[in-house]
Amino acid sequence: MGLTRVPGLLFGGDYNPEQWPEEVWQEDVRLMAEAGVNLVTVGVFSWSRLEPAPGVHEFGWLDRILDLLHAHGIAVDLATATATPPPWLVRDHPEVMPVDAAGTRLEFGSRQGYCPSSPVFRAATVRLARAVAERYRDHPALAMWHVSNEYADHTAECFCPESARDFRRWLKERHRSLDGLNAAWGTTCWGQHYTDWTQIEPPRKAPGPVNPAQLLDWRRFSSDALLACFEAERAVLKEVTPDVPVTTNFMSVLRDLDYWAWAAAEDVVTDDAYPDPADPRAAVKAALSYDLMRSLKRQPWLLLESAPSAVSWRPVNVPKDPGVMRLHSLQALAHGSDGVMFFQWRQARYGPEKFHSAMLPHGGTATRQWRETLALGADVRRLAEVAGSTTRAEVALLLDWDSWWGLEAPESMPSDRLRLHELLLSWYAPLHARGIAVDLAPPGRDLSGYRLVIAPNLYLCTAEQAAALAAFPGHLVVGPFSGVVDAADQVHDGGAPGPLRDLLGVRVEEWRPLPDGAVQEVETADGTRLSARTWTEWVEADGAEVVARYRGGPLDGRPAVTRRGNDLGNGTGSATYLSCLPEDPAPLLDEVLAAAGVTGVAGPDLPEGVEACRRGPYLFLLNHGSRTVTVPLPTPTQTTTDPDTVFTDLLTGRPLPSGPLSLAPGDAVVLKQSSPVLNSTDRF
Ligand SMILES: [Zn+2]
Repeated sequence: MGLTRVPGLLFGGDYNPEQWPEEVWQEDVRLMAEAGVNLVTVGVFSWSRLEPAPGVHEFGWLDRILDLLHAHGIAVDLATATATPPPWLVRDHPEVMPVDAAGTRLEFGSRQGYCPSSPVFRAATVRLARAVAERYRDHPALAMWHVSNEYADHTAECFCPESARDFRRWLKERHRSLDGLNAAWGTTCWGQHYTDWTQIEPPRKAPGPVNPAQLLDWRRFSSDALLACFEAERAVLKEVTPDVPVTTNFMSVLRDLDYWAWAAAEDVVTDDAYPDPADPRAAVKAALSYDLMRSLKRQPWLLLESAPSAVSWRPVNVPKDPGVMRLHSLQALAHGSDGVMFFQWRQARYGPEKFHSAMLPHGGTATRQWRETLALGADVRRLAEVAGSTTRAEVALLLDWDSWWGLEAPESMPSDRLRLHELLLSWYAPLHARGIAVDLAPPGRDLSGYRLVIAPNLYLCTAEQAAALAAFPGHLVVGPFSGVVDAADQVHDGGAPGPLRDLLGVRVEEWRPLPDGAVQEVETADGTRLSARTWTEWVEADGAEVVARYRGGPLDGRPAVTRRGNDLGNGTGSATYLSCLPEDPAPLLDEVLAAAGVTGVAGPDLPEGVEACRRGPYLFLLNHGSRTVTVPLPTPTQTTTDPDTVFTDLLTGRPLPSGPLSLAPGDAVVLKQSSPVLNSTDRF
């Protein structure tokens, strides 16, 4: 059994039958069956059609399409339809619309406009979710519940008076007393001492920089306020249909929501991923977000939305070249998705997304897009056995939303050039290029299953998190500007790296961010030169050995990279601290990978542009580059001395000899080690 009751991999997309006359539905289900679609998401934006007046429900059309889909063997990821409140709710209760930081209440006319803290809105969503759940609880097409849509998209926070009241309730729970809040927020600074809870407001537009501790609590609250919306609906769904999995579609690597907390509240992690075909880093960014999705619950997840070709919301919406939809889809499967789903099934004729690509485009079935949809459906069927298989990573990158929010507070940091997504990518990209599987993990989790843990940045680091890192017996790498503040955004006693000081064996005396374009040379003990940009620090080694020093400038000769044997663990690991951001951390990374005994799944000689991922017994090799490459196949794992052992490419069903493999641009293979040995005539 996979993520849902549908066997094998899932294939399909968002389906909006309410935008089409019913005679089109017949063609839809016929073409879906032809393409191998086995799951569609229905009803995401249909609140105003399902409940045209308060408490008045019109389920007839939804009954008919669910019956029709089921009759054609297509299961449904059924939305609770609460993503966009209907006009009547907005006009009866204008307070359900969100207010921006400048105090402007936003108008109806788009989508997903609501105040997360509005009791009226929450009650209306729960009523509708219950009505939908009770009507379709036993419908045989129901495979999964889809709550709302892309939480935090368009409205990640609301600054209205109701949200202010909710914020105060949240603050009272966190800080207990006004004294506690004043202390945590450091309100003696800039004369902000509060004497009554009612004086506290959301961080609306102010004359200058807002208290960063207030902002940090606000980001925590805003994530929690939306999560409360999700949990209110989820509770109803679980009450009515305890066995139907519940999800809401995430938005890849998103700053606004603490996805560790969110994933814990849902049964299945699903993601909407829209890598930009015009971005040369699209593949590596997508891989990072897919690995995050796999890591959130440490189980297979589902790519619930992606673009067959162009999207409609960038300034320039570059389409996917022939073959790219397939390559990107296989990439998601390689990183643990149990299916490939799109926005959307049939291209819209109206609305803001009418130029967004679809599985079935405006031009119908006599199009390249449709032919690629059919071919991809066939590929997904060939890979059905991959469903449910898992990835074992030996390397983890740490990601903590508190730290992210603190790091990116505006107008109060030594440099606003430190952006967490980029810091993650600076380590993830070289690991990805080496074919090394990577998990994301929160600091504080038991990390003992990993050989190497990298914290690109832990600006905010608590004593508990530091203790968890100290207990990690493997090799640890910590990036700059870490261990700076506590959970209240207050600088640790004695400065950075605060609670990590003993573990890392360093003291940081001074931040020395670099102006844009400036380069600081760094030299390792063996004479390798690295170029650092953006950030450097004045560091004193205090128990650690210096493995690289700054060369030139005011830091000349001072420690740039330090390492300490991890005598706080079991003595086998190490703790490396980088006080700078090397443009290319490869020399340092290779050293620590070797020490940790970590190698890529396809060996050390992965050609540029080739992505290699092992998922259970399957090895995915994808060529994102623009030239044909030769990939060395790994030594078979089970019969290492048998020269006749071969791999089978699941996509073609053809056996491959154990040896170098030629991979054309945009092509991919999914290898499974096969036995018994096949006749030599079966090879090519
Ligand atoms: Zn509000």
